[in-house]
Amino acid sequence: MDISFASKRILVTGAGQGIGRELALRLSKCHGTVIALSKTKEHLETLKKEDPKIQIITVDISDWDATRKAIKGVLPIHMLVNNAAVACLHPFLELTQEHFDLTMNVNVKAMFNISQVVAAEMIRLKYPGSIVNVSSQASTTAIKDHAVYCTSKGAVDMLTKSMALELGPHKIRVNSVNPTVVMTAMGKLGWENPAKAKTMLDRIPLGRFAEVNEVIDAIIFLLSDHSSMTTGAMLPVDGGFLAA
Ligand code: NAP
Repeated sequence: MDISFASKRILVTGAGQGIGRELALRLSKCHGTVIALSKTKEHLETLKKEDPKIQIITVDISDWDATRKAIKGVLPIHMLVNNAAVACLHPFLELTQEHFDLTMNVNVKAMFNISQVVAAEMIRLKYPGSIVNVSSQASTTAIKDHAVYCTSKGAVDMLTKSMALELGPHKIRVNSVNPTVVMTAMGKLGWENPAKAKTMLDRIPLGRFAEVNEVIDAIIFLLSDHSSMTTGAMLPVDGGFLAA
């Protein structure tokens, strides 16, 4: 895809490592002005070293007020990728209140908070915007030891649809990408063990996990005008997992 994001200010959350980091680098190569947000300062500093054009913000997005303040400091934003998330993987009966609160705060409540601040300013300035939420195949299929993660991603899909409904009249599109396993730090947490990985690979018709670039391509498509009539959609990047 030959896509230019010149003159666009694009906020990527969870840009310190994994999918978000590679996405920030790619969007910058596509001439976007990238604002990379993450929790760990050192991760963002190495990103800035790799591409000095990228602007960085360190904030823990589970802190509602600090996050709102940080986001207000980088407005206006034309495009937003809500990518940051955590995965607390334990059997249902062993999950604690702390696991539940952390997961819902980072994966859902922060997405709501950040999107609200960004979208309000898009509307005020009459910017047609695009928001992509990073969900998962786990939003619609239960996966062992993923109860609270699956719950959070189910909420992400519904938040995506609700935002699409209410922001559409303002020409702001909102979609999600729903990847299968990707071998980032988070992916390794659940699937590094080959025997465990096989149980998932056996359920994926294409017989492999997704590459970071395959998820990024889907996000870039949804951010760009190539998807100008698409909003409220959940785009699987799952090798057919959800079809099987
Ligand atoms: P990752 O490698 O673990 O990276 C997650 C990023 O989110 C990190 O940069 C981390 O920050 C940031 N983050 C976590 N908590 C935060 C907080 N409280 N405040 C600010 N930033 C925070 O994960 P990934 O695999 O790239 O995942 C990216 C997205 O894809 C997530 O939404 C995930 O649910 C989704 N996904 C992943 C997979 C997979 O198998 N990997 C599959 C489906 C969907 P620091 O680096 O700064 O600490």
